[in-house]
Amino acid sequence: MTELTKSSLSGVRCFIGLGSNLDDPIRQVQNALIELSEHPHITLMGHSPLYRSEPVGPEGQPDYINAVAEVKTQLEPFELLDALQQIENAHQRVRLQHWGPRTLDLDLLLYGEITLNTERLIVPHPFITERNFVLRPLADLDDELTLPGGQEIIKYLADCPMGTLVQLSL
Ligand code: ATP
Ligand code: MG
Ligand code: MG
Repeated sequence: MTELTKSSLSGVRCFIGLGSNLDDPIRQVQNALIELSEHPHITLMGHSPLYRSEPVGPEGQPDYINAVAEVKTQLEPFELLDALQQIENAHQRVRLQHWGPRTLDLDLLLYGEITLNTERLIVPHPFITERNFVLRPLADLDDELTLPGGQEIIKYLADCPMGTLVQLSL
């Protein structure tokens, strides 16, 4: 087996939440999926449909486009976060306001069965269990998916208000 094939088959299964509400959000999310797939140390295994969701945080911002990507990677958690932040930065992500509008947000939702609680990185992502635009696409990808403690994603989904979440038919 070549090194290339080996690295594409091994690695830790991770889920990445994508979001955008500025500067052609559908294109931002689609391009970010391509950039994830082209990263030398990330294998894109699949992604959910795109969704339109109402903003969390400050009011008056445009709706968001969201999706979740399933990847495999041999990067360590902090290296993966670095890679995600590099892609955000390449999309001219500017942080002006907490939960304010952004061209691209890439959140590390799950990194295998790992739990981490550091100043720079918390895994599973702290709001994974309460955001419809994360739970719905995670369940699209794997309806048997569990958190590291064994809790089922679909149980949280069943309890989560769906608000105005809409799946886009692209
Ligand atoms: P939220 O975390 O509520 O979705 P946000 O995505 O808008 O908010 P950001 O401005 O993108 O927040 O990130 C703020 C900081 O969160 C980052 O600098 C990063 O160090 C930290 N962070 C902690 N855990 C994670 C994670 N699992 N994925 C991405 N960033 C994380
Ligand atoms: Mg976020
Ligand atoms: Mg973020």
